[in-house]
Amino acid sequence: VQQVLDNRAEVVVDLDAIAANTAALRERVGRPLMAVVKADGYGHGLVPAARATLAGGADALGVTVLEEALALRAAGVTAPLLSWQHGPGEDYAAALAADVELSVNAEWALTEVVAAARATGRTARVQLFADTGLSREGATPEAWPRLVAAAARAQADGELVVTGLWSHLAYADAPTHPTIGRQVQVFEEAVALARRAGLTDARRHLANSAATIALPETWYDQVRPGVALYGLDPLGGDPAQYGLRPAMTVQARVALTKRVPAGTGVSYGHTYSPAAETTLALVPVGYADGVPRAAGNRAPVLAAGAQRTIAGRVCMDQFVLDVGEDPIAPGDAVVLWGPGAEGEPTAQQWADALDTIHYELVTRVGGRFTRRYV
Ligand code: PLP
Repeated sequence: VQQVLDNRAEVVVDLDAIAANTAALRERVGRPLMAVVKADGYGHGLVPAARATLAGGADALGVTVLEEALALRAAGVTAPLLSWQHGPGEDYAAALAADVELSVNAEWALTEVVAAARATGRTARVQLFADTGLSREGATPEAWPRLVAAAARAQADGELVVTGLWSHLAYADAPTHPTIGRQVQVFEEAVALARRAGLTDARRHLANSAATIALPETWYDQVRPGVALYGLDPLGGDPAQYGLRPAMTVQARVALTKRVPAGTGVSYGHTYSPAAETTLALVPVGYADGVPRAAGNRAPVLAAGAQRTIAGRVCMDQFVLDVGEDPIAPGDAVVLWGPGAEGEPTAQQWADALDTIHYELVTRVGGRFTRRYV
């Protein structure tokens, strides 16, 4: 953590940590790894995060929407790349031209992909998504046989190659939950059916970060972690136990300090007031920058050498700290969250304080924060 900031408010991203985390996870599973870099690399920056995972040995990249995939290609990233959330009328021709693999959930989507393959004269690379129990993306066990049959016909006709069979777990963060075994069984039945239909070369993958850490029976031909690449433990514990290091530090400079008497009402609604005369410090980031409003009177920050809870409500553009008699001056660093190695809170601590998950915090921090890569 840099104590004197170059900027008013910045998100510092440790790319070596992302690379090292990728290498640690790949080593753990001893098989190929698709690095999930959707949602702007979980708030760490799409292209830098993708490059860092590739430097750490990632074999492929995964993103949600086609725009993210095309942005990676435009930046010169050539690794195998899958996108998986498409709607009707998607620009599959652009995807095929950019060599982006496409996840397919339903027959109508397959029809659109095949039409784009015919129109462009290219062979589509398709991964079929089985809904094994999350009830989100994918074809249900009832719809799966027809989807597989249609894909097998198109593969036989040379319009596409099915490169993957995949699904997503509902309870990977509860490693003993019986739903996991049921999903694994449904997945294996889906794979067996696809193989009987001739889709024999497709890579099977099921494991997100939690499963990559805790569920070897879900590793199959490739794992597909996201959050753990950024050094966060999906199981809510200390990431160091898996050799992972948080890559994000969020910090801002104090904009103003003032002495106020006991009982002074602080911020909107005066939900906080100091018991004794004290020093208040104004931190120039708020909910417009992705600091949740719910953090008021709940979340800790590191300021003037100690962790302290945000005093009163978080506003759109700022929040206030009560630092008591500790020395603090405009320009001093306040760390919202980071790796935790220098006394600052972690994203996990914030998540616990706000009754949310660190995923939500790191993907939403933005607004007027600048990003700096180290
Ligand atoms: N696979 C899919 C389909 C996802 O939606 C996600 C993210 O939610 C991931 C993998 C990665 O999950 P995690 O960040 O928990 O590793």
